[in-house]
Amino acid sequence: MNEELRVDVVRILRNLNKLGKIGRREGFNGVTRLALSEEDREARDLLVSWMEEGGLNVRVDPIGNIFGVRRGSNPNFKPVIMGSHIDTVIDAGIYDGAYGVLSALEILRRIDEEGIETQHPVGVAAFTNEEGVRFQPDMMGSLVKSGGYPLEKAYARKDDDGVTVKEALKGIGYLGRDDVKPEAYFELHVEQGPVLHKRGFEIGVVEGVQGIAWWRMAFRGEANHAGTTPLDMRKDAMAGAAELYTGLLEYVAKKGNALCTVGKLRLEPGAINVVPSLADFTIDYRSYDDAIFKEGKAEVERRAEEVAKRRGLTLDKEMTADAQPVHFRPEMVGLVEASARKRTYSTFRLPSGAGHDAQFMHVICPTAMIFVPSINGVSHSPGERSDAADLERGANVLFDCTLAKAGFKKEP
Ligand SMILES: [Zn+2]
Repeated sequence: MNEELRVDVVRILRNLNKLGKIGRREGFNGVTRLALSEEDREARDLLVSWMEEGGLNVRVDPIGNIFGVRRGSNPNFKPVIMGSHIDTVIDAGIYDGAYGVLSALEILRRIDEEGIETQHPVGVAAFTNEEGVRFQPDMMGSLVKSGGYPLEKAYARKDDDGVTVKEALKGIGYLGRDDVKPEAYFELHVEQGPVLHKRGFEIGVVEGVQGIAWWRMAFRGEANHAGTTPLDMRKDAMAGAAELYTGLLEYVAKKGNALCTVGKLRLEPGAINVVPSLADFTIDYRSYDDAIFKEGKAEVERRAEEVAKRRGLTLDKEMTADAQPVHFRPEMVGLVEASARKRTYSTFRLPSGAGHDAQFMHVICPTAMIFVPSINGVSHSPGERSDAADLERGANVLFDCTLAKAGFKKEP
């Protein structure tokens, strides 16, 4: 629709590299900006300085989400928001999250440069704790904003050192009081999977997001001598965890359209010659299918209880995330697809395998996501890369979708 309007991808890359310098650690190749850490504060401060340079109205809400809003011609209209996150996992790449936020910033700059007047205000958002490494649940900022999790409960969540979210927010100076109610939300993101790159498509039209359920579980048994305790007299916590995991892997393989991962495991006492008395572990379960998601969650809990019972273990379990599969509104998905095709970019429809803030924003406003290819599908790793040409295409699509939703006129 705006064939002549393009982002300047060099500026996006320059900012990505600047932001990507924050959170470098000795001995790591990537960046580590865990939510609400000192590194996160530094990144937030830089982002806010860029927003202020761009003349945006900066607002921070009670869970620390940052918004930078450019005014529209109708003061009563709600803003069209483009966003993502700038926190990272441990030893991450520089594109995940930051690409969406910094492309939004570039688009706002281009709107100024082109003398475009939008009816709705247009803004950029950076959501708090998308990754969920330090505090759970993940996607905390958008989850709380959308009303899916009580603010006070989020404030009380603790990291491994006992620091609460509220203390951490206060500590870095991002405990705000503002509220921004969006008209629509667009999230541009690297795919983080291999589909677009392997199949040679330029733009991923995201239809929705897989449901994600997380648990923290612990089997407790009895520590005992590895050489003298017969198998049938053991209460082996690790054996329980192993049996549960392999059983769940078989279950999801049989179902198809579902995934299960035990990504973290700690044993006590942790000695080569002692039967483990404790297995403390996490479970990540995902499906895009509503029925399989629901059934699988019940299956995880049922199997955990059954294994514990049979092996004489006790089970502690806490569900730390439970995000239903999301299916974006067809007209929003269609807008992304039409915008990309108008620019003659090749498109492919797919659901997102990773969780994103968009899945919660979808609850409170019309929402869509745009993916660009990740080279070899690598993400959550310093090896995460995307081609500059793909980054430019994605941001151009975001530009068009945002203007279409905001309504605009361009001075001659
Ligand atoms: Zn992300």
